[in-house]
Amino acid sequence: MCKKRIGILIVLMIVTAFLSGCGASGGEKNQTSSETESTENNFVIVTSFYPMYIATINVTKEIPSVEVINMTKPQTGCLHDYQLTPQDLITIEGADAFVVNGAGMETFLGDVLASQDGLNIIEASKGIELIKDPSGEDNPHVWVSISDSIIQVRNIADQLSLADPKNAMQYKINAEAYIVKLEALKEKMHNSLQNLNSRDIVTFHESFPYFAKEFNLNIADVIEREPGTTPSPKEIEETIKSVKESGVRALFAEPQYSQKAAETIANETGAKIFTLDPGVTGEATENAYDDYLNIMENNLKSLEEALK
Ligand SMILES: [Zn+2]
Repeated sequence: MCKKRIGILIVLMIVTAFLSGCGASGGEKNQTSSETESTENNFVIVTSFYPMYIATINVTKEIPSVEVINMTKPQTGCLHDYQLTPQDLITIEGADAFVVNGAGMETFLGDVLASQDGLNIIEASKGIELIKDPSGEDNPHVWVSISDSIIQVRNIADQLSLADPKNAMQYKINAEAYIVKLEALKEKMHNSLQNLNSRDIVTFHESFPYFAKEFNLNIADVIEREPGTTPSPKEIEETIKSVKESGVRALFAEPQYSQKAAETIANETGAKIFTLDPGVTGEATENAYDDYLNIMENNLKSLEEALK
């Protein structure tokens, strides 16, 4: 623990030196450092972002000795452009376990975790077959597929059980109870999406390939090819051309991003704008347990409206 503390202080000083005065954005915190201090009895789990938070609170439901803290704000969204803050390092230092999506989503962590002796890294995407982006890199949006989200929930429960054996049984019971709900929704969506008039969609950023694979949809084009960057006029022009050529009728914007580019494309092509939510933002409240399920229900409605 002592070594770990020294390690984190060194990293903290370096990051503080880099970030002070830079006005680092996107790193506001939910907690103060005192709130993230691990107590004798509590097992403190930090999650990297909202989808991991939802999965983890379901796995750890009603276990009084477990505390779950989401490191980034629930409104942060995908972590493609995220920059680690000094407060994040304090949060991580107070943790017994750190739940990450993996598959390249948390690249902002760099070598930070390597210096965390004794911190249990829980990798939710472990063993999941990854889809490559057109750029050749692994696509990290694994949780957007319900089947892969189920694997993630099991991974989180299994790895937490090893890290905190005292609560192993409850983690597994909780995970299975949540998976029953996820399986039911998956079946409902499969049934509803079986007979669509069209299976072609244009999505906002590269967040839906796992979802599309699961429900046999075809992503005809992606409006924002590089996450976090506004599509250039040339890219928008190319998307307009491809939408016209393929006859795609539905564009799917994401609530986390501006609709401006989608509106331009819709105006030029006559395609309509709908919403698909990758489930990366929400309110971290008591009602958040079913947030992923509710978001997917809304995605189902949106797809039915757009493609039936
Ligand atoms: Zn993303």
